[in-house]
Parts: sequence; structure tokens; C-alpha cells
Amino acid sequence: MGFLLQYVAIPMQKQYIYRRITAITMKNAILSLLSLLVLSCAVSGDWKTDDGKAVKNGELALASGARLTSIKEYRNFIMSGKAFTAKGAEASLLFHTDGESGYEVILHNGAIDGTRKTGSLAAVRNLYRSLAEDSCWFDFQLAVRGKNIAVSINGTDVVCYTEPDAPYRTAEYAKRLLSSGAIILQAKEGETKFKDIAIVELGDDVRNENDTLPAVDEQNDAIIRLQQRNFPVIDYHVHLKGGLTKEMAHAMSMNYGINYGVAPNAGEGGVGRMLADDKEVYEYYEEVKPLPFLCGVQGEGRRWTKTFSQEALGIFDYLFTDAMTIRDHKNRNSRIYRAEEVHYDGVTKEQYMDRIVEQTVKILTNEPADIFANPTYIPDDMNVDYDKYWTDERIEKVLDVLEQHSIALEINPRYRIPSLKIISMAKERGLKFTFGTNNVDANFGRLEYCIEAIERCGITAEDIWFPSMSVRRTRPVIIYNVD
Ligand SMILES: [Zn+2]
Repeated sequence: MGFLLQYVAIPMQKQYIYRRITAITMKNAILSLLSLLVLSCAVSGDWKTDDGKAVKNGELALASGARLTSIKEYRNFIMSGKAFTAKGAEASLLFHTDGESGYEVILHNGAIDGTRKTGSLAAVRNLYRSLAEDSCWFDFQLAVRGKNIAVSINGTDVVCYTEPDAPYRTAEYAKRLLSSGAIILQAKEGETKFKDIAIVELGDDVRNENDTLPAVDEQNDAIIRLQQRNFPVIDYHVHLKGGLTKEMAHAMSMNYGINYGVAPNAGEGGVGRMLADDKEVYEYYEEVKPLPFLCGVQGEGRRWTKTFSQEALGIFDYLFTDAMTIRDHKNRNSRIYRAEEVHYDGVTKEQYMDRIVEQTVKILTNEPADIFANPTYIPDDMNVDYDKYWTDERIEKVLDVLEQHSIALEINPRYRIPSLKIISMAKERGLKFTFGTNNVDANFGRLEYCIEAIERCGITAEDIWFPSMSVRRTRPVIIYNVD
């Protein structure tokens, strides 16, 4: 019934402590039992067509454009069932609706291409990777308990949204609010089938025991504004490190309304969990595949193209690398984010900067990555003069190679790089962008600098890169920098 594996987050000062519930709570056990009773008696879930024809609950096939409206109206409820979408089909579940009001849950599978995917609470919690596939039955569950809306797909919670006291809604979505009303099954495009639908009504005082993070203050939240514009909110560069567990990332992602792309580091020299060979890559992928994250991988150090097969790394949705590890002017491996590894012996900082640019071009030319992460990072003691070192000529060299190989440019809120000037120059060329934090622990932001770039550089949803645009698997791997 989807209750078995849920996570609880308990706010404690600024940190969150999470507890994984492995046993069904008494309350949920009762609900599950009730749901089974209702299912066996088939007393709920009867429907009518738009022209008033009654339809008994059972296996329901909806042709493109067809709708079924529940005969009963609901406030608090748990609805569960199975859905089947034909290839490329798109459907909706509307609830608390009179046909116009209320919320919409989207059913839509397929590649990560920027369209909203199965489980999305439309324009409030849009999701970009589906945990279900077309042409096979998948489980869904939708629960409304007080102010909380929870959606799970194939047993995994993908939405846990609590409507705050003062929700932010644009004029277009002004009626996307909780109240009570009918449930509508709607096939928007292609055929969608439903079966085993059970709707259990719940009392007025019911609440989602797993919803323990404070509701977002939407009057002062930039993320809900992006959601309402259907601007894809994805942080592609999240690492499970420094105490950030996958359970915490899951809870934070649902609470904040930010899709996370979670990536391990593959290679050597980085911080936190590192994958060492193809076998570890496949094992890790199996572990993260059922989680509601985009699945990325970061090539780390300068030998990852030699260590891993392109086929193994190809199973991830996307791959990124950075130029924070370079071979310096004396061919030493240098992680330029560590002051003790940055040696200016025999060269000026201007010459050292030329070396960084030259290495960056080499990396992006020879290592088939989708995204240039931590882009334009330079050592701390040079960063104070970032604009002086990043001359137009140097910027153009890096943008040339991004353009040549269709590599996306990460906008990184942790380092606030690249500069807004460089972002504007990249946009001018039509380059694509991703947002990516590169967190070191669980205490990181909500894409603040990316939101600044959207506003000040005019970044639109059309400027965002998606894994469906990836060309890395067809690019040759060129082994270079070999000793
Ligand atoms: Zn990283």
C-alpha cells in the first residue's frame, strides 16, 4: 500500500534528523485494512462520462480526450490503483475539482526531455524523471490528508507537498488549491487505462504522519514561482556526502520542490564516495535507479575515461566533469581547489591562468561529458581578480569548445560561477545550461544564484539542457595526459 518505506524528517534547530520507518504504523495499518475492504465491496470509485453515462468501477480504458468524473466528492482520501499509458500517452488525475478548480497529477512517461513526468503535482511540484514506463501497468497512490498532498509511483513517494497558509499562485493557477470535490480521470493524449482503483475516504482530522518538515513559506519562496511558470527546477549536481543521505535528499527535494540529480564521483582524487571500476558503477546504478532522482555521474580526476568503459558510464542519465584537477606547467597533477597543490613556481599568475584555460579546452575536447561543472573555477587567490583573469579571449576559447561538442554549461550557486557576464555570452551563442550546486554536506541552498541568472541574464526554460540532448555516447574517448 506504499506505506512500508517512508521517511520521517524531524526539524531540530537547523539540522534535520531523519528516521526511516520500517514497520507499518497502527494508523496506517487500519487505513490499509479499510482500503482492502472498500476494494472488495467496490462501494467507491464509480464514475460518469461527460454526457452523464454511468460507468462501473473496474478496468477503465480512456481514449484520447475522454474523461471520467467520480460520482462522489471527496475531501480527505487515499486513492490507489494501477495505470497503463500507451506509448507517448499523457493523462491526468484531477482532484478537489469542479472541472476547473483543484489540483492535477500528471501521468506521462518517457525520456528526460524537459516535459513533466508521472507523479507531478502540476505547476506546484513538477517532476522530470518518471519512475514508470509506457506500455506496462504501474502503481500509483494519491493521498490528501488535511493540507498535505502525497503522490507515490510504484511504491516510491515522489510528491509530499503541504499547502501553506498563504499559497503563492499565479492568475493562471489561482484555483489550484485544496477544498473538496470530484476526482477526474482524464486522457489528454493517447490511450490510458486504469484498474484496481480504490478510494478510501478519511476523517477531517487525519494527517500525513510522515510530513514533518515545515511547509515552505511560498510568499517568500522563489522555487514555487518557477514551478508556477513550469520552469524546470532541477539541481543536477548533488552529492550524497558530508552526512547527506539519500533519505534526507529525498525528503528535502520533495519539501523544497527542487528535483535533484544525484551523482557519485567516478575516478580518483575527489571527496566522499568514489566509484573505482565498472562493476562498482553498475552496482551503484542499481541502488539509485528506483529513487526519485535524476541519475548522474561525475568523472573525477583526469583518468576516468581510461578507468571506466563508455558503456558503463552510459547507463547514467547524464555525465559531468570539471576542470578543477589539471596538469600544471610542470605536468604535476594539481587539484586547484587545494591551495597546497597550486604552485606558481617559475610562472606568473597570467601564465598559470593560460594553463588553466588550455587544460580546460583539452579536458572538454577529449573527455566526453554532457556538462561542464564548476565552470571557470580558479584558485582562491586568483578568484579575487576573477574578471581580470577571465578575459574575453579566454572566455571565448572555453565557449568555443562547449559549442563544438554540445556541452552544457553549469550555473553553480555554491561558487557563484560562471559570472553573469559569461552566462550572458553563453546564452548569446545559444548554449544550454544546467543548475548544479556541488554540495559538500546536507546544508546547501536552493539555487539562489541560478535564480539570479534567470532574472538578470534572461535564462528561459528553452535554455535548459536535458539528458535527451546528450551526445556523449557517440563521442570518441581520447586518452591524453598519459605519463
Ligand atoms: Zn561534484
